[in-house]
Formats: sequence, C-alpha cells, structure tokens
Amino acid sequence: ATPTSIMVGTGKGAELGILFRKGDALQRLRDAQVIALDKTGTLTRGRPELTDFIVAEDFDENTVLRLVAAVERLSEHPIAEAIVAAARERGLEVGEGSDFAAEPGFGVVATVAGRRIQVGADRFMRRLDLDPDVFAQQAQDLSSQGKTPLYAAVDGRLAAILAVSDPIKDSTPAAIKALHAEGLRVVMITGDNRRTAEAIGRRLGIDQVVAEVLPDGKVDAVRELQSGERKVVFVGDGINDAPALAQADVGIAIGTGTDIAMESAEVVLMSGDLRNVPNAIALSRATLTNIK
Ligand code: ADP
Ligand code: MG
Repeated sequence: ATPTSIMVGTGKGAELGILFRKGDALQRLRDAQVIALDKTGTLTRGRPELTDFIVAEDFDENTVLRLVAAVERLSEHPIAEAIVAAARERGLEVGEGSDFAAEPGFGVVATVAGRRIQVGADRFMRRLDLDPDVFAQQAQDLSSQGKTPLYAAVDGRLAAILAVSDPIKDSTPAAIKALHAEGLRVVMITGDNRRTAEAIGRRLGIDQVVAEVLPDGKVDAVRELQSGERKVVFVGDGINDAPALAQADVGIAIGTGTDIAMESAEVVLMSGDLRNVPNAIALSRATLTNIK
C-alpha cells in the first residue's frame, strides 16, 4: 500500500465516522477472518430494562424490589440503572445501603435496613451456597426469550428471580448480514447468561457464542479465536473490553463507550451505528485492492 492510498482510505473513513488511529489498522483490517463482538452496548443498546420480577413464597414483591434497588443504587452497572429506574417508576422509595461490594461478573451485595442483600447471576447464588434452581422453569423461560435472569437473596434466603432485557440496536442485523457478505465469521463474547446469549445469537444469525465470560476472560476468548493464525477483529465499548481490544489483530471501539476502550483500540467508530464495522472492512479492502 502506498502512503497516498492509505491517506485516501483514512479520509474516506473519517467521512463515514470511522477513525483510524493508526495507518496500518486499515491494512490489517483487510485480512480479517473473524469478527468478535461484545454484546452489551455493542450489539445491544446497553440500556436494559427490568421486565420481570417474581418473588419466592413468603416474600413481598415491592419490599424485595425496594431492597434490591437500594443495593443497585450503589452500582454503576447498566443492570443496576434498570432496576433503580423500575423501582422509582413503581413509586417505591429506594433506601440507603451500606457495606456495598461489587463482584465483577457475579453481582453486588450491600446491607439495607439491617438486612444483607445479594443480587446477581445464578453463579453468584451458587457461590453463596444458595440454589437458583428453585426458579429453574422461570429462568429457562426468561433466558430463552433473550432476557437476563438475575436473583436476589435477603438475609441468606433466595427471595426473587428478576429479568432485564437490553434491546438490540437497529443497526445490528444489517451489520451482521454485511459481515457475512464479506465472508467473515461472526462471534459474540459476553459475560451474560449462556442461554440468554444463545437466544440473542440465534435471533441475529451469529455463528458462535462465547458466554458467561468473566470480565478479565474476554482477552483469553480472543486469543483462542486467534489460534491457527486466524486474524481476529474485536469490537467493544466497555472498560472490561480494553484488554481484548488490545489483544485482537485489530480493535474497534464504539465511540459512545468508555474512554479506556477507545484508547485501547486502533479504530474508533464515532457513532454507535454498527454498520460502520463492515463499512470499515469494505473500505480497507477497496482501498488496498486499488493499489498496483
Ligand atoms: P456484560 O458486560 O456482558 O454485561 P458483566 O461481567 O458486566 O458482563 O456482568 C456479567 C453478569 O454479572 C451480569 O449478566 C449479571 O448477571 C451479573 N452482574 C454484574 N453486575 C451486576 C449488578 N450490578 N447487579 C446484578 N447483577 C450483576
Ligand atoms: Mg459492552
């Protein structure tokens, strides 16, 4: 590739809102074979909503929701925002929590009104020696609809199963279709529940789903996809996507995401429109085949 053609390609990218932070990213994108994408905030809007809240016998729905929301008020996870917003929408007064702790990839814990409240994934409940399978049927129904099931414990007793759902971005189906048209294998990497991730993957026609990945495990997932010299592009937006963005042959950050993700990536998309991922690849291929 000549310096001129790279300048032209980089300029065209800028017009589309695709920022190439390094010139050779444009060249390396051409060789991409696999596109791995983070789910939350990349394939989905990253703005989940609380859709279901089912309490165990002996528990009152609004009481449990109020306790859970008090814990989540102390968390910065998008799931937390969804739960707090739902409690407020129901007109519930959300109290104060103390002794808050977040266990990345598992859930959150705090004390509210003298009660110990834990909220998180099924694996979090298992680690607390609680049995989430008392809600097995509900969990299966919720996750097969692409919703993320979560559990709440009050003073060491399983009190509720709840679910959040994060809408797929409008641009995602077209982006995946275009990636397939470019001959790429499309993979989703997520910390979310396996059945939930698979339901969403199926809906989108994604080739491979890597689910229940712990926050520092995305980089290993990328490394595994790179085996056999396969060229892997990773697309993400979050803090925990930064190591995977750096590990990939090319990292593409969503510009509406976190600064750390953008600093770790060689390509930044100025909007959340996912169609700029296949656009970037098509651009690199067009730019570099015109060169003699
Ligand atoms: P992702 O970025 O794919 O959402 P995370 O590692 O942030 O993955 O979260 C993985 C899982 O951990 C979530 O799907 C949820 O089950 C649980 N979790 C994380 N934070 C919270 C929270 N604040 N409240 C409840 N559950 C949480
Ligand atoms: Mg994300």
